[in-house]
Amino acid sequence: MLRILNLEAGYGALRVLKGISLHVSPGEIVAVIGANGAGKTTLLKTIAGILKARAGEVEFDKRRIHNDPAERIVRYGCGLVPEGRHIFSTLTVRENLLLGAYSVARASRPWHFWRRRTDNQRRPDETLAQIYELFGILKERSSQLAGTLSGGQQQMLAIGRALMARPRLLMMDEPSLGVAPLVVKDIYRTIVNLKRTGLTILLVEQNARAALAVADRGYVIETGQIVLQGTARQLCDSPEVQRAYLGKEYRSIDEDE
Ligand code: ATP
Repeated sequence: MLRILNLEAGYGALRVLKGISLHVSPGEIVAVIGANGAGKTTLLKTIAGILKARAGEVEFDKRRIHNDPAERIVRYGCGLVPEGRHIFSTLTVRENLLLGAYSVARASRPWHFWRRRTDNQRRPDETLAQIYELFGILKERSSQLAGTLSGGQQQMLAIGRALMARPRLLMMDEPSLGVAPLVVKDIYRTIVNLKRTGLTILLVEQNARAALAVADRGYVIETGQIVLQGTARQLCDSPEVQRAYLGKEYRSIDEDE
């Protein structure tokens, strides 16, 4: 579904991604783990078209997307839950969700812009009902201002908002950041439930323990390069990963209980 080849990106004189190659197959959860500043967010921003690739290729569903603008990449079915959530705090939960279904299309004639109604825009209520089913708390708080939600609830909202565009691939940037350990478990259970609905997920995390507990495969990124890859189990059993990212013992999310 997603194939990245020798991807390079950065900011000004700073080279961050130095030739990243990875792939994600349909139905998989793939984790990219790495320390602070390794380039994880930069990788997702480049795939999402927020940051321009300097070299290499990004292919989504066999279509080259690395020169496409971010709003078009969302319409292809590639969604992003950004780090730090970026919800609209003065809007209600429902309004934040509805914004996720909004997309703007540019006409083939460059002087003419219009709003194209995607399938989803024709039936956002149906999608909204599905999101409320998945996240009961968002339904309960639908008219609450988003800025007054807890960190974990805001993370659920950010996931829900990305799902409103009905992505086939959902990219998530550090969903466990800034939320309490119990809530991290809730978020990760949701990620497993999303996989069960057929969604493909690319997850970047500093919290390797949580990510590898749900992932099928994973990659380790260090200073903009992939230094290790394998199944989640292989990575968990790797002495390097255990030393640098997991601490001495590893237990799956369910063994923790
Ligand atoms: P974290 O877990 O802290 O978010 P990360 O692995 O996601 O880390 P990135 O956010 O991709 O790392 O940052 C990689 C490098 O790029 C860092 O050295 C960071 O300081 C730098 N960087 C990130 N964003 C910008 C920016 N907008 N302008 C300049 N440098 C940036």
